[in-house]
Amino acid sequence: LGAPLFSDLPGDIAVSFEFFPPKSDRMAETLWNSVATLAPLAPRFVSVTYGAGGSTRTRTHEQVVRIQNEAGIPAAAHLTCVNATREEVDAVARHYWEEGIRHIVALRGDPPEGASGYAPHPGGYENAADLIAGLKRVADFEISVAAYPEVHPDSPDAQADIDNLKAKFDAGATRAITQFFFDPECFFRFRDKAAAAGIEGEIVPGIMPVMSFAAVQRMSDLCGTAIPSWMEGLFEGLDERPAARQLVSATIAAELCRRLYAGGVREFHFYTLNRAELSYAICHMLGKRPTGTAK
Ligand code: FAD
Repeated sequence: LGAPLFSDLPGDIAVSFEFFPPKSDRMAETLWNSVATLAPLAPRFVSVTYGAGGSTRTRTHEQVVRIQNEAGIPAAAHLTCVNATREEVDAVARHYWEEGIRHIVALRGDPPEGASGYAPHPGGYENAADLIAGLKRVADFEISVAAYPEVHPDSPDAQADIDNLKAKFDAGATRAITQFFFDPECFFRFRDKAAAAGIEGEIVPGIMPVMSFAAVQRMSDLCGTAIPSWMEGLFEGLDERPAARQLVSATIAAELCRRLYAGGVREFHFYTLNRAELSYAICHMLGKRPTGTAK
């Protein structure tokens, strides 16, 4: 393979962690404990998602501001254009800027459940590229966007998807975070295609540690991520064995990251699903240690 052994990985990587806004006090506590666990790894940023159709606008805002102010980690707010006028989206962004939030993950968003395909809100932003241009008119935010190594389901073909990603960088994005994937070669092919299209911005792999194989299967069906045939076998019989499942899951994700590292990747974004332990373990295996601690 040519990939270094885990023991040789020096931890010269940057990481970021994604959370979703909690629905209850108990979930808020879990989220906060996870932020506290991951904070010593000195993430470049932590981001908080925006519920479908803007349904979590207030909760996303609260968590983003709290993470930045109380945990002292640069926080990024996800923001979509679904179900909102340009003025409404601009007002949300302006409020973030006033609160000291300087980083937005700018997304189109998905159509509401049951809708046949995406349609922009009348008076709203058309898509992510249009949203980025609007955000840049509000203030000089740092902007991250979504990218799809296995092609977005709405895209007519792979080249149109790359062209769309280029349009997002041209509109002012500086980083793309990918949809989760399980095949490192798929990421490398995508990175090569993006470079060939003249994209110079960072493309950061989004890593999804598998908490529940059934849930990952459902998500993969929706977003077009391929699940390798070997993976089902590895999780077989582990439904009632959470500890064993976690070990298997950490091993799979760490191996994916190790191969990405061998291919030159030095930045990783983790979909934590608000739990810290798996992401922490994977970072640890990649050589990442709490700040101030020698490896
Ligand atoms: P866009 O980049 O606007 O485009 C989506 C697709 O449509 C592309 O394939 C593009 O080629 C095609 N397209 C766009 N415009 C045109 C056009 N004019 N003509 C032809 N084709 C076009 N969703 C949420 O609701 N909340 C979140 O917090 C959230 N966070 C995410 C974080 C990451 C890292 C990722 C990868 C996804 C996230 N999503 C989130 C999901 C995202 O909203 C969906 O994948 C959505 O369907 C597409 O959003 P986008 O920003 O990629 O859209």
